[in-house]
Amino acid sequence: MPLATITIAQALRKLRMKECSAQELALACIDRIEAMNPTLNAVVHTNFERALEQAKNIDASGGTSLPLGGIPYLAKDVFCEAGVPTTACSNILRNKTYTPPFDSTTTKRLTAAGAISLGKANTDEFTMGSSTETSCYGVTRNPWDVTRVAGGSSGGSAAGVAADMGLFALGTDTGGSIREPSAFCNCTGLRPTYGRTSRFGVMSMASSLDTIGPICKTVEDIALVMNVIAGKDPLDGTTVDKPVPDHTKVLTGNVKGMKIGLPKEYFIEGLNPEIETSVHEAVAILKDLGATITEISLPHSAYATATYYVLCPCEVSSNMARYDGIRFGHTVDKPASLTDYYGRVRSEGFGSEVKRRIMIGTYALSSGYYDAYYRQAQKVRTLIRQDFNTAFRDVDIIAAPVTPNPAFTIGIHDNDPIAMYLEDIFLVGQVMAGIPAMSVPCGFTKTGLPLGLQLMGAQWSEELVLRCAHAYEQATRFFEKKPAL
Ligand code: GLN
Repeated sequence: MPLATITIAQALRKLRMKECSAQELALACIDRIEAMNPTLNAVVHTNFERALEQAKNIDASGGTSLPLGGIPYLAKDVFCEAGVPTTACSNILRNKTYTPPFDSTTTKRLTAAGAISLGKANTDEFTMGSSTETSCYGVTRNPWDVTRVAGGSSGGSAAGVAADMGLFALGTDTGGSIREPSAFCNCTGLRPTYGRTSRFGVMSMASSLDTIGPICKTVEDIALVMNVIAGKDPLDGTTVDKPVPDHTKVLTGNVKGMKIGLPKEYFIEGLNPEIETSVHEAVAILKDLGATITEISLPHSAYATATYYVLCPCEVSSNMARYDGIRFGHTVDKPASLTDYYGRVRSEGFGSEVKRRIMIGTYALSSGYYDAYYRQAQKVRTLIRQDFNTAFRDVDIIAAPVTPNPAFTIGIHDNDPIAMYLEDIFLVGQVMAGIPAMSVPCGFTKTGLPLGLQLMGAQWSEELVLRCAHAYEQATRFFEKKPAL
């Protein structure tokens, strides 16, 4: 088996048994990046020299005994890493290439645990999108079918993992950006409970919705990464001081007596029939393993997308205000006035999706419209959250599709932002509720495109979600299938 194709768990065993070195493993992934990136465009900045130096030190100092000692990974291009370009795939930071002088908390934790960053993965501009098509570096192609998107916004992260360019990747999930690309690329991705992982040093899109999490090949690998990245961070006041368990301990394969709910609002007209069948088949497997299945209702689900696409742009309009070209990033020559300066910096620097959201958000927050849109959306957010709280009184896990469609053709939604937003229909309710949700491979379409099963739990129930996902994954092993690249 080629070295880069192995899982984190397998790699740790090999490294500790001295069956391979950290340098060999890093080189194997670097070879994959060099061979496949011209086709896939998954990686936008590389860090090979430093990565190999780090691998050498790990080999020399017995660093492979660290929790992720010698494991190479990719980080979405919004994780600040000292000395490595970090641009959120936006021209506003790409011009005069922004290179942060500090590490995000997650980067710091991973480095301390011995993980090795190989570079930055492609993303929609400032993570706004569902297809990585809004990146200033161009679209990431899906390793399973290069005419299709890899999903977004963490498309580079998922394509990178699917193509064995890193053993795992970091993503962010504001409204599905870890789960959707994971489903499109046959990866396993977890959006943790809001407050479980630190956002410090990660460029924000919508601060009350953004979470950061891993995209991996298996559930066990997710657990291994979560063990390192989860937990209170004094630099992010929204992280919560709860002990971090050993997430691998719960992967027993046992789901006997687990109560799983199927929300009827997630099986609606427009859902691709092959996805519907695969989710029902997945649930039948969980039933065979001893879980009980009931139909449940999340009555406000139909409002989730509309609510998200009011609240998210409002927070975007505020978060994007800091990009003024004065302290860093894109700037312009000979402005006629201050207004001309700001106007040109921001209209040249931002792409159209970012501008659309700034305008929608600014409008919805302005006096007179605030009550009609923003306040109203916040109220609906509460109703959606209450739906989940009520459901989790009766069930342990909610199972659903990740997306209404498999990976779509590049360019298909170019002139229709609403059609693009509707791709997120099953992904944004969880965000309103701040609950953990993950995507696990659950089969393929007849034409060979990967499909994902979404599993959600109540706040802070990552262990339960992982246990369920692991039992299902081990019973089906769809993760073992690789794209023919
Ligand atoms: N597709 C969603 C959006 O465009 C989610 C993006 C994300 O989770 N970063 O906002």
